[in-house]
Amino acid sequence: GSQRENVVESKKDVLLGGLLVPGFDEQSCASRYQSTFYYKNMTRQPSPYLIKRLREQEALQRRCGPGTEPYIRASERIRTGATTDVDHIDGCSYLVLISYRGLGNRILAATSAFLYALLTDRVLLMDPGYGDTLPRLFCEPFPGTTWLLPRDFPVSNFKDLNESAPEAYGNVAVNRSGSVSGLRFVYLHLDHGASPANLLAYCDDHREFLHRAQWAVLRADQYIAAGIFFNPAYRDELDRLFPRKDAVFYLLSRYLLHPTNEIWGMVTRFYNAYMKDADERLGIQIRVFDSNKPLQRILDQVLACTAQEHLLPGVVRKKEGGGVPPPIPTAGARSKAVLITGLSSWYHDNIREMYWKSATAGGEVVSVHQPSHEGYQRWFHGDHDVKALAEIYLLSLTDRIVTSGWSTFGYAGTGLGGLTPYIMFRGLDGLVPSPPCTKAMSMEPCSFAVPHFDCTKKEIDRDVIQVDVPHVRACEDVFWGVKLT
Ligand code: GDP
Repeated sequence: GSQRENVVESKKDVLLGGLLVPGFDEQSCASRYQSTFYYKNMTRQPSPYLIKRLREQEALQRRCGPGTEPYIRASERIRTGATTDVDHIDGCSYLVLISYRGLGNRILAATSAFLYALLTDRVLLMDPGYGDTLPRLFCEPFPGTTWLLPRDFPVSNFKDLNESAPEAYGNVAVNRSGSVSGLRFVYLHLDHGASPANLLAYCDDHREFLHRAQWAVLRADQYIAAGIFFNPAYRDELDRLFPRKDAVFYLLSRYLLHPTNEIWGMVTRFYNAYMKDADERLGIQIRVFDSNKPLQRILDQVLACTAQEHLLPGVVRKKEGGGVPPPIPTAGARSKAVLITGLSSWYHDNIREMYWKSATAGGEVVSVHQPSHEGYQRWFHGDHDVKALAEIYLLSLTDRIVTSGWSTFGYAGTGLGGLTPYIMFRGLDGLVPSPPCTKAMSMEPCSFAVPHFDCTKKEIDRDVIQVDVPHVRACEDVFWGVKLT
C-alpha cells in the first residue's frame, strides 16, 4: 500500500551517498533532492575521497567565484593582459567552458570539464550559451556561488577561439616552447576534431605550462574524461577518486547536473503518466544522422536488436489462410512501457501499431510512448532544448536501454541513468548492420578524440594508437574512440 511505500521512500538517501550537500532551497530546484525517488537505486556509490574532493571544490568555487575579490582581481588581470606566472595569486585559477553543439555534447563536455577543473584545482565557469540557454536547463550546482561566466568576461570573442589562436595549447607548446609570457590565457582546443598538437594538452602536467596560466578557456564538444586518463600525472588521484572507472560520468553528472523545475516537471509528469506503473521500462533512443525522413532499415534494425536481446516480445502473426487467433486475456499480464525518443514519430507509430494490431506471444502488454517529435535538430533554441533535455532524463529513468551508436544524446541518457546500454551500430552502407546491436562494456560515454600517443613519450603520431592505458578500451560504436570500463 501507499503507506508502506512512503516508509520505504523516506528511507531513500536524497543526498546520494554523500554526493550532494544538504542546504539548497528545495523548492527552487526540486530535482536535486527528488531524483532519488525516481531512480531505482544508485548504480555506483561515491568514494569517501570523491566526496571530500567535491566539498573542497565547492569551497574553491565559493572563495574564487564571480563577485568575490579574487575573481574581480583575476578578471582585471585578464582584461589588462597582466598575466604570466600567476601561479598563486589568491590561489584562484579558472577554467571557462565554451558551450556549443547539441545538448548531449554539452552535457558530456560539462561533466568532463568539471573533472578537469577538479583535478587541476580550477574554478569551473560555464559559458551560458547562445541565448543564455543554460540557466533554463540546469540549476546551480555549487552552493553559495554561481557557475555562470559573468557577462562582462573581458575576452569578448572567446566563443570564436580556434586552433589558430596564439593562445591555443598546440601553438604555445610548438611555437613558443611552452612560454605563456604575454598571453592572457591558454586556450584548450579539445573539440572532437582537434589536431595532435592540441591533444598534447591531455598530457600537460606540473612540468608543463598550463598551471602557469591563471585562466584556461576550454572548447570541448565531447567527453574529455577518457583522455585525461592517458596522463600519468593524474593516475593516482583518479584511482582514489574512482575505484570503479566505469562510474566517472555517472557520479559526476549526478553530482553536477540538476534539471530546472521546468524540465523536471516535464520529466515527472510524463514518467508518472506513462512509465511508473509498468512492470518494466524499456528506452529506445533513435538518432538517425543521415536523414530526417523515415528509414525502413532503421526500423528493421531496432526490431532486430530488441528481438536479439529479448527486450521486446514477438507478436502473433495472422495464420496462413486468414484465421485470426482469439485475443489472449491480459488480466494480470506483465506490462512493459516502451519510451521511444527521436526526432521523427514514424518509428514509434510503427512499433505501437504492431502491438495494437497483434497480440504478443506471451500475453505481455506493451505500451509505446514518445514525448515529442521535433522533426529536425535546432541549436540553442529554448523550447526545443527543454524537450530534448526532458527526454534525456526520461531515458535515464528506464530499466534497460537501446541507444544509437555515435549519439551523445544517447550517451548522456545512458550515463545519467547508470545503465549499460545496448548500442545499435551505425550502418554506413545503407544496410542493417549485422549484428544490429551489442551490449556495451560499460555505462561510460565514448570519447571521440584522445591522445593517440603515449603521454610519457609525447610522440605526436596519429598512427600510434595507445592500447595499454588501464581501464581504457576502444568504443563499441566508434572505432577511433575510447571509453572507460
Ligand atoms: P547527437 O547529435 O546525437 O550526438 O546528440 P546532441 O544532443 O548533441 O545533438 C542532437 C540534438 O538534436 C539534440 O540536442 C536535440 O536538440 C535534437 N535531438 C536529437 N534527438 C532528439 C530526440 O530524441 N528528442 C528531442 N527532443 N530532440 C532530439
